[in-house]
Amino acid sequence: MRLAMVRMEGLPQPARVDAAGKRYWPVSALAPGLPTDMAGLIAVLAKGATIPEPQDEGQPLREEMLAAPLPNPPRNIFCVGKNYHAHAKEFAGSGYDSSSTSAADAIPKAPIIFSKPFTSISGPLDDIPLWPGIDQGVDYEAELAVVIGTGGRNIARAEALKHVFGYTVVNDVTARDLQGTHKQWLLGKGIDGFCPMGPWIVTADEIGEKPLRITCNVNGEARQHASTADLIFDVPELIETISRSMTLLPGDVIATGTPEGVGIGFKPPRFLRDGDVVECAIEGIGRIRNTLRHQAG
Ligand code: MG
Repeated sequence: MRLAMVRMEGLPQPARVDAAGKRYWPVSALAPGLPTDMAGLIAVLAKGATIPEPQDEGQPLREEMLAAPLPNPPRNIFCVGKNYHAHAKEFAGSGYDSSSTSAADAIPKAPIIFSKPFTSISGPLDDIPLWPGIDQGVDYEAELAVVIGTGGRNIARAEALKHVFGYTVVNDVTARDLQGTHKQWLLGKGIDGFCPMGPWIVTADEIGEKPLRITCNVNGEARQHASTADLIFDVPELIETISRSMTLLPGDVIATGTPEGVGIGFKPPRFLRDGDVVECAIEGIGRIRNTLRHQAG
């Protein structure tokens, strides 16, 4: 099942979307009475509520109707730093990595977890804002994001995938200069509009455990091309690690990290500029496409 937030008469509401992404059915019509916010909907679905299969042809879906599928997770998005070998090396060698002081510790020995404010979430086609004064080191990071269904604490690795509701695509947009200057990642990654998400959530039963191809293009040029099989710490390990510290909640999002090919991997770095178009795609889920736009203030 694919669940999107579709703008109906201007207001984003949960809807089922067909495999082609061309038709939709409002959840309010398929299953009246279920929550109309995605986090609330995920919580009841994780407890056993169901959305029936559509019995009619639904409504035509235009991509501009899509909003971020989970605009209101219960708290900040969990993120994972340096979770692909090749990216960990390019980051450590870039001069922007304040978490690593030598080549010897470029590859983390345990997951590096940080968070991105949920207020940074934007839609799958929304512009990425270039805010005055913090617009000179903006970079892209295509990532597989996990959406938690059933919450829990101390979730064992072997049980972890039972807690996954589904998956979506995020671009963990980052202002590298702030990431370096402030020796921490929150300010550079928490900027308003720096977490495009979508185009929808694909439930875990459709994805299974197979590796997924993940790509990022900038202005049509391939920049990132990897497989989620290359994750240093896989989804079960991330769930086990985070839930050892805090209870995971329905609707929590874990962005699993980005592969090699980000802008600071180039010499000189290739930062994003006004008008650039960034496309992040994951096999079996879909793609998000966002244009960089200067903001007045
Ligand atoms: Mg990232």
